Amino acid sequence: MKPKLVVFTGAGISAESGIKTFRDSDGLWEEFNINDVATPQAWNKNKALVLDFYNKRRKQVLEAKPNNAHQALVTLEKKYDVHIITQNIDDLHERAGSKKVLHLHGEIIKSRSTTDSSLIYPIKGMELNIGDRCTRGSQLRPHIVWFGEQVPEMENAYLIAEKADIFMVVGTSLAVYPAAGLIDYTPRGIPKYLIDPGDVKVNGITNLTIIKEKAGIGLSMLAEKLLASTT
Ligand code: NAD
Repeated sequence: MKPKLVVFTGAGISAESGIKTFRDSDGLWEEFNINDVATPQAWNKNKALVLDFYNKRRKQVLEAKPNNAHQALVTLEKKYDVHIITQNIDDLHERAGSKKVLHLHGEIIKSRSTTDSSLIYPIKGMELNIGDRCTRGSQLRPHIVWFGEQVPEMENAYLIAEKADIFMVVGTSLAVYPAAGLIDYTPRGIPKYLIDPGDVKVNGITNLTIIKEKAGIGLSMLAEKLLASTT
């Protein structure tokens, strides 16, 4: 059986594809107030503004391509049972070819019913607009977990992390909870790696190797090393 490699990714892994991160100084969110576009209150107050914000981000995602970091994770499937748990709402892991991807914060290429959350649809084209309805007749919203909402996939993510033989964290400031607490669910003794060019605060994590590089180069180097190792 292949060893289980669990990879926790954030906005940083898609930065080299040209998708802006969340907290970096030139980040997308500098231009917008989170409360105006990414909360249930914002949706209740101004649906058109929220839809417009996500329409712009969807366009950016659809025009972007997976980069070397996404590709490196695909190559690791040769030797490892790779499970990606991502905070990203883009689909670059899937488009690179990764097979097991769990989205904690939703997917920008999908919409969801506002009366029945089990009704999820692919968005045709770039836009979701006022008047786009589910099969039960209610307005569709972006299939995104907004700030202040529950993270329905969190339990599944814990179950995956608990079984990891190797754990990697790539391109996340570890600032958004509960997702950021995932590393605490991994077995204590296993090797853990963190790839990020910034100073990510991590305390009390055992067996952690920090690779202070951008994801493209850092992950390509680490993938080569893991593919060459005999364990
Ligand atoms: P974040 O913006 O808080 O942190 C980004 C991290 O990426 C930082 O630590 C930064 O140092 C690092 N980084 C920047 N460039 C990098 C590179 N080239 N390689 C590797 N790392 C790099 O993002 P987060 O921790 O993912 O949390 C933010 C939230 O915003 C998430 O919930 C996510 O859903 C959302 N988000 C998603 C996307 C996306 O889908 N691509 C983009 C922006 C924000």
